[in-house]
Amino acid sequence: MHNSKTLFCYNCKSVLLNLPEVEISKLNGLNFVCECCGHRNLLTKNQFLKSVDSYDPYISIKSIDSILSERAMFY
Ligand SMILES: [Zn+2]
Repeated sequence: MHNSKTLFCYNCKSVLLNLPEVEISKLNGLNFVCECCGHRNLLTKNQFLKSVDSYDPYISIKSIDSILSERAMFY
């Protein structure tokens, strides 16, 4: 049995991730861009916090490409 956890955008509260907690813990420290409002969410200790304003292309590209590859088609 997997204990799935849903994470929401800090800004608009739309669902960004719905994964087992084990998988979410592996993504800790990555940035995710909300497709609804475009705000960046930093995954910190199994919750989303507002990402820092300084844009880090390496972090963002890596997270989007590896985790949200299907969404990458829209960029
Ligand atoms: Zn949002």
